[in-house]
Amino acid sequence: MELNYVAFVVPAFFLFLGLEYLAARRQKKGHYFTFDSSIANISVGIAERLMSLFISASFYAAFYWIYNHFALFHIPNHWTIWVVLILATDLVWYWYHRLGHEINFMWGAHIVHHQSEEFNYTVAARITILQAFLRNLFWCILPLFGFHPSLVITMLVIHGAYSFFTHTRIIGHLGWLENIFITPSHHRVHHASNEKYINKNYGDLFVFWDKLFNTFQKEEEEPVYGLTHPIKSNSFMWQHFHYFMEMLEGMRRADGWRAKLKIVFGKPEDLDQNIRKDLEVIFLPHKRQLKPTFRFKAYLTTQIALCLTTLFALILFINYLNLTEKWFIALLIVITLINCGALLEKRSWIFHLEYTRLLLMTGLISYEWDSPELFVLSLIFVLLSSSSLNVQKWYFRFVYH
Ligand SMILES: [Zn+2]
Ligand SMILES: [Zn+2]
Repeated sequence: MELNYVAFVVPAFFLFLGLEYLAARRQKKGHYFTFDSSIANISVGIAERLMSLFISASFYAAFYWIYNHFALFHIPNHWTIWVVLILATDLVWYWYHRLGHEINFMWGAHIVHHQSEEFNYTVAARITILQAFLRNLFWCILPLFGFHPSLVITMLVIHGAYSFFTHTRIIGHLGWLENIFITPSHHRVHHASNEKYINKNYGDLFVFWDKLFNTFQKEEEEPVYGLTHPIKSNSFMWQHFHYFMEMLEGMRRADGWRAKLKIVFGKPEDLDQNIRKDLEVIFLPHKRQLKPTFRFKAYLTTQIALCLTTLFALILFINYLNLTEKWFIALLIVITLINCGALLEKRSWIFHLEYTRLLLMTGLISYEWDSPELFVLSLIFVLLSSSSLNVQKWYFRFVYH
């Protein structure tokens, strides 16, 4: 068995994020980053990296299966193929991305990437596992055409890394390069909700697909980032699932199967915008307006840092862990992320989630040490202490005041 060095993507991400932050401060643009937004973006990214650990191997196997059984052509492994492959990958991306904006069920997955009202490298991480899943389905086209899976996988890594660097406001216009590549300027337009910027610049690497299919727009006025109808929440769960809930509600209200199917496969702009408002009344009750204290920020940052360290260790040592250990750790991270989102929203039910997490942690230790009595003891402690009002009061005083 060996270490999985892919884990170093995590520190590399923070290295570039740190450099971007320093450059922004230098340009007196520290306001490009806000605490809540950065935490929310990074939380979404952690969950995606985590879940990808469980699904990417299956997709790589699927690429080989498709290539071995259904490949339409057997494209030779020659250096010129890289040029064809890079163009093919970018074209598949263009349509995957464009359909992600034009078909409701795909927009339900992609919308999360566009919720951020900030635009910096943390937004590049803002991809959900649902989006990664759909994207992998599109990538199956490449081995189907006859590109060898090992080439496809290498290309996807390069392609994925490139798009990270287009999520920044600190790089201005890049002259002639803008006629060939998708640059930060082009991608800023894609993330903007200004009227003239909507549904523009879907490309990832090359700009000519947008020009060819009439979706290109140059960056002119200052972009306003985020959705046309911004979501007013940093809740981890709401961010991930609000659009699917809107679709379900839309289907419930629609008359007949034709109308219901139109909700799934129709255009996002045709979905009744009032549904979101109605759901917000139910699922986003008025949150406490508390100014975040230094202690609150420190508590949240520590949790995200712990999640990242755990994720890094999980990826690095993945080959040494059994399935139970992997799932325990993954669950622990996901609960912590839900917890962080709820903290940003100042929800009171996080108190119970904190206890669930405590139980999970002792559960993991009991499993590793093969001592169920430790778990029973912690369960008794949790049951006794969680019912004490004093503990609840102390907790809320600690995190919110
Ligand atoms: Zn998009
Ligand atoms: Zn983007």
